[in-house]
Amino acid sequence: MASPTGRARSVRARDARWRGALAVLDEMRRRPGVTRADVARRLALSTGSATEITARLRELALLSETPAAATGRGRPTTVLHPHPRGPVVIAVDLRQEDWRCAVAEIDGRPRVSEEGRHGSRHPAKVVAAVGEAVRRVHDRFGGRVRAVAVAVAATVRHGAVVQSATLGWDAVDLTGLAPAPGLPLLVGNDATLAGAAEARYGAAAGAGTALHVTIEVGVGGTLVVDGLPIEGATGAGGEFGHLPLGDPALRCPCGALGCWDLAVDGRAIARHLGEPPPRDPRSYAQAALARAEGDAAVRSAVGRTASGFGRGIAGLINALDPGIVTLGGFAEPLRAAAAEEFAAALTDGLMRFRRADPPPVVAATLGDDGALHGAAAIALDRVLTEEGLDAWAADHTG
Ligand SMILES: [Zn+2]
Repeated sequence: MASPTGRARSVRARDARWRGALAVLDEMRRRPGVTRADVARRLALSTGSATEITARLRELALLSETPAAATGRGRPTTVLHPHPRGPVVIAVDLRQEDWRCAVAEIDGRPRVSEEGRHGSRHPAKVVAAVGEAVRRVHDRFGGRVRAVAVAVAATVRHGAVVQSATLGWDAVDLTGLAPAPGLPLLVGNDATLAGAAEARYGAAAGAGTALHVTIEVGVGGTLVVDGLPIEGATGAGGEFGHLPLGDPALRCPCGALGCWDLAVDGRAIARHLGEPPPRDPRSYAQAALARAEGDAAVRSAVGRTASGFGRGIAGLINALDPGIVTLGGFAEPLRAAAAEEFAAALTDGLMRFRRADPPPVVAATLGDDGALHGAAAIALDRVLTEEGLDAWAADHTG
């Protein structure tokens, strides 16, 4: 049995063993196609240390190196790539009408391997179809698969789906998606994961505190600090759409009164036009934007909706003080379609001291792939740890 001192020493030795390796792998995630020389410079490593670390990671099938194109100055270097037999994670995006299953290597870039439409309101059928796709990927990659992460259009609490107005689901058990016993299965809200991805790889990259807001059916999003979404005590935080910024007389499908959700998507546009609530608010809203150009009534309904959206964004900025705001889904087309109404409502809603220097509000750049990138990112966060690399090394040596 190891003495406490012995254990402390072995923990220190293990930390030293992986510290440089984890830093190099992190650089590969931040900057795909990075060279060994760049990594050495950014991490303040000597050329010798960088070469030693990458050689060991190569032996462990964690990366591969190819000669970099000569730049004319400096010594020849190599480009760092994921190893062709290296670890992978499976990322799933489960949306209102369809799902996608992707594989990501350690650079974190998901490549879609299968996709399907479901349209089904029977969660068991949807989970079974997605589960088969995940198992097929697992069969193909075997022990290289180290974690699975699912982005789902639902409220997620303690890693489980508790409610989804978008999918028409109540609590749904996703544990059946794990393709093998012991393999980590992580579940996150799609807008939250898209926000995390935007802050790491997208329009908010480099910002310490970023706010992501997206409109699909209702509003979702998250505050992200240093790449990690602020999820609350149980993981169900970031439900911005259920702030009471809407009409207090309207009952939201979530159960609460006056939710912002009802004031910013296709349901709001339809209400302003005196039309019945659309079955698919997203498609209805997109069609309304197309109609707005030649129809003053539609134009006005879109303007009122953009105004309600801008007022809420101002409230979130007042409350959360982000360095940048990224807009995903229908949020950016809505803003662009009624830019003046949005900007006026945003400015009017900001506290006076913020108006001279408000945070930039910009379009998200990962588009429909944001949630998939975010799922891959949290799965890799689980793999690229001291414990994760210990486990990988144990499988690849001796
Ligand atoms: Zn609500």
